[in-house]
Amino acid sequence: VKYSEEQVMRKKLFNQIQEAKGNIRVFCRCRPLSKEEVSAKYATVVDFDMAKDGELGILTGGVMKKTFKFDRVYMPKDDQAAVFVDASPLVTSVLDGYNVCIFAYGQTGTGKTFTMEGTEQNRGVNYRTLDQLFKVAKERSETFTYNISVSVLEVYNEQIRDLLATSPASKKLEIRQASEGVHHVPGIVEAKVENIKEVWDVLQAGSNARAVGSNNVNEHSSRSHCMLCIMVRTKNLLNGESTKSKLWLVDLAGSERLAKTEVQGERLKEAQNINRSLSALGDVISALATKSSHIPYRNSKLTHLLQDSLGGESKTLMLVQISPSEHDLGETLSSLNFATRVRGVEMGPAKKQI
Ligand code: ADP
Repeated sequence: VKYSEEQVMRKKLFNQIQEAKGNIRVFCRCRPLSKEEVSAKYATVVDFDMAKDGELGILTGGVMKKTFKFDRVYMPKDDQAAVFVDASPLVTSVLDGYNVCIFAYGQTGTGKTFTMEGTEQNRGVNYRTLDQLFKVAKERSETFTYNISVSVLEVYNEQIRDLLATSPASKKLEIRQASEGVHHVPGIVEAKVENIKEVWDVLQAGSNARAVGSNNVNEHSSRSHCMLCIMVRTKNLLNGESTKSKLWLVDLAGSERLAKTEVQGERLKEAQNINRSLSALGDVISALATKSSHIPYRNSKLTHLLQDSLGGESKTLMLVQISPSEHDLGETLSSLNFATRVRGVEMGPAKKQI
């Protein structure tokens, strides 16, 4: 065997081992430089020479300072479809009975909402996920019936708000434990959806409700976690077995630290709550990694809600979003370090949820 062929084979094997390693994947996506950054002549600090291998370099003064390894690296030119191609096996596994959680993490303005929600011309993970669920459900309709419903929540200052609730009284929610490891939010609106057109309407309704009561919509959404929960109830027509699985699609609050000048009042409280929930997420994932006997799910509403979708029985995908600009270098390094900590996790082999 020629050396080059051997190299290809070795790489293939390496990838297979990677695939088998655990149930958490981390993909990193870098947005393009914005018009403003281009006109301000900000340099790009991200090097993509090894992006195909999931590696990314951070340059300072044109010199490689640090490299990071992820399961995938997307360059600014990679489109929404490219990201979804890699996420789609997880989506299919929801129909096989697994719980799945896909979340976007990063500094405000790095493309979390672009990746998850997208735009009507450039649809993101949320819409593509539901589209695929319906397509695969249809392909399997001779053997299975699927009942799909969607809930849209927002967590802001450690309060859960139901974005599909019509009466304000039912908008604030609490989490209850139904049985060991299974949580539910009593009173939550579950909108039954039968086709992709209905999904779009539900997603729009959720988006509109998010804006209500905030004087700056963009600021508000960067400081709250937006969480879409898709429940899939499956019935196997051949043996009559029923399964229930859950898919969370989460657009997290911005991970940036507060500027010293802003440390007061309501902003301070928001920042502390965001900080607390994002560190709680990191702590839960590292506790899972070290197989700790206590997983601190209860430390934040975010991790409490995700409890049955983070852990050995479920599959997790983190999309870490970064900016290419030298201006954001500090936050970029902090996001990449957080993601590296998350990726260090080896979760047990996935077990099917019955
Ligand atoms: P975040 O949700 O992290 O605050 P946004 O999704 O609002 O960030 O993105 C900030 C801006 O950058 C938006 O104008 C968005 O359209 C643009 N943007 C983000 N990612 C990309 C991308 N991959 N390609 C093109 N534009 C992008």
